[in-house]
Amino acid sequence: MEKIKEYFKNRTCHVASLHEKHLAIAPVFASILGLNTEPFPINTDLLGTFTKEVERSLSPMLCAKEKCLMAIDALSLHGQADIVIGSEASFGPHPYLPFSAAGHEILYFIDTKNHFELSIQELFLKTNFAFDLFDDFSLLNKAVENWGFPSHALIVKAHQPKEQNTIFKGISTLDALYDAFIQSKSLSFDQKVSVETDMRAHKNPTRMETIRELATKFAIRIKNFCPSCHTPGFGIIETKKGLPCDECSFPTDLNLSLLFGCAKCTYQEDREREDQKRSADPRYCPMCNP
Ligand SMILES: [Zn+2]
Ligand SMILES: [Zn+2]
Repeated sequence: MEKIKEYFKNRTCHVASLHEKHLAIAPVFASILGLNTEPFPINTDLLGTFTKEVERSLSPMLCAKEKCLMAIDALSLHGQADIVIGSEASFGPHPYLPFSAAGHEILYFIDTKNHFELSIQELFLKTNFAFDLFDDFSLLNKAVENWGFPSHALIVKAHQPKEQNTIFKGISTLDALYDAFIQSKSLSFDQKVSVETDMRAHKNPTRMETIRELATKFAIRIKNFCPSCHTPGFGIIETKKGLPCDECSFPTDLNLSLLFGCAKCTYQEDREREDQKRSADPRYCPMCNP
């Protein structure tokens, strides 16, 4: 048996989520880590929701960790706390690419028996995240075709609500979209309806797919044992930039070396680039090729 599968034998990982994220994580964790992964439906909406009914006050990373801790508290009551995963995501305009949307996904992993924790995060361009205002149903109907509707659900609400706003979530049929549109329109002072993509994992197959991709990278990282204390999760904790230019030796933006670290002890290793390059092509150099 693979060493990592031996390590996680008879262990259980609970995914703290109301939105079935274990469906993306469980198959990957089973095949790479031999870890049994179960859903742990816990209401983490108090930490903030996509629809902003509750504003998020913690940073996304701390939020993902807090979800783990909430699940560990709840599981401990039944003596079931073992390994827990929490997740968090934010969606918005891409930080560098104009007119593109991006999703920032985080997974957080806590092993309560071996006392270590790890996280992974990534920015995904692959997202259907979108929102707009509509006062005409045929325009709305046309727009949402490009948003992955109806395989991806929508959230509909009045733009300027006359009273306590009703939020229609998980809309995934044309009839439901029409009803939500008509009701929201009549509830809005300016007759405008706010429509956005529903980013909750179980309503959004594209997001489910990105969680699966991130879980795969996470499992591959977890698979590496620390050479010193033999805890899983040994991997890159920092990349050092500044690979010198081939022509003039000026430090470029390319990686010079990688710092590897442990999830538990202080052991670290400075490793060369995987391709063992010692210098950069001058086309990456700000001096030779400004
Ligand atoms: Zn270690
Ligand atoms: Zn140069």
